Amino acid sequence: MSLAIVSLLGAGEAAAQNTSASPSPIIDVHMHAMADAPWAVPVCPNQARFEASDPKNGPEAPFGWSKEECSPKLYPAPKGEYMKAVLAEMERLNVRGVVFGDVEAVKKWHAAAPDRVIPGTAFGRIEGTDAAKQLRMLEVAFTKDGFKVMGEIGLQYEGVSPSDMRVDQYFALAEKLDIPVAIHMGTGGSGRANVAMPTYRGSMGNPLLLEELLARHPKLRVQVMHAGYPMIDNMLTLLQANSHVYVDVAGLIWSYPRKEVNRYIARLVDAGFGDRVMYGTDQLAWPGLMAYSIALIQNADYLSPEQKRDILYNNAARFLRLDPAK
Ligand SMILES: [Zn+2]
Repeated sequence: MSLAIVSLLGAGEAAAQNTSASPSPIIDVHMHAMADAPWAVPVCPNQARFEASDPKNGPEAPFGWSKEECSPKLYPAPKGEYMKAVLAEMERLNVRGVVFGDVEAVKKWHAAAPDRVIPGTAFGRIEGTDAAKQLRMLEVAFTKDGFKVMGEIGLQYEGVSPSDMRVDQYFALAEKLDIPVAIHMGTGGSGRANVAMPTYRGSMGNPLLLEELLARHPKLRVQVMHAGYPMIDNMLTLLQANSHVYVDVAGLIWSYPRKEVNRYIARLVDAGFGDRVMYGTDQLAWPGLMAYSIALIQNADYLSPEQKRDILYNNAARFLRLDPAK
């Protein structure tokens, strides 16, 4: 390639980055195909504390967030407006997103914005589920309906390890079809098990629980959702043992104290794994969450411009095997 062409390409790229009509592309690897969230209230993200509770003097809060004020808050979308509002934000911010949910719900999102929505779906709870039927559903989704990621897999909520042999058949299918899997590991706020979900186990969010699964399925590509927070040492141990493992910072990025979030991301990047950290929101109720959490990465003074682009776009494009130019 001649020097002239190189500089022309460079100029074109710079121009594309600078047009206000089209900000640099971003991929959100962790969204949910909700309709409405009637439970959602206005929230202040990155609350600085989690509070203790007393079983005798309730009510006990399901996340334990302290009630700090902020302005502006993140507001839930008006009833019936959620999908439209989120898709409008994706258009405005130039975001493509992996949207998880049951097949029919995700298809609605994809039909409304085929260029913005990358469809994902997963098997449901183990207890009381017809495994053969789930496998058939997944096979159709991934081979005929264009679904791209198997997630969100919520085994931790059932207190089940991802290496449990009862779920091996689903991961074997993903490996055979060359579909990446996205597994919930970590986070949960305060009181997740004793207040909100009795079968939830913090210990089942240990990233090292993936090791036996990955030994059985060496080609499996894994997205550890919520980056295994707060088990950073185990997360780094897994990243060094398995180069097909990526992490997302969804949920974590807005639901924990800001200093702690930045320290966790910095640790992943400083340890040398900056090409496997992916931006995500866990978008499920507040349309403004996307812009808010992008800003947290954009404003991170410990990240270089290149590291920010890797987290906001390049790593996910590589993990999902998207066209790097788009
Ligand atoms: Zn999750």
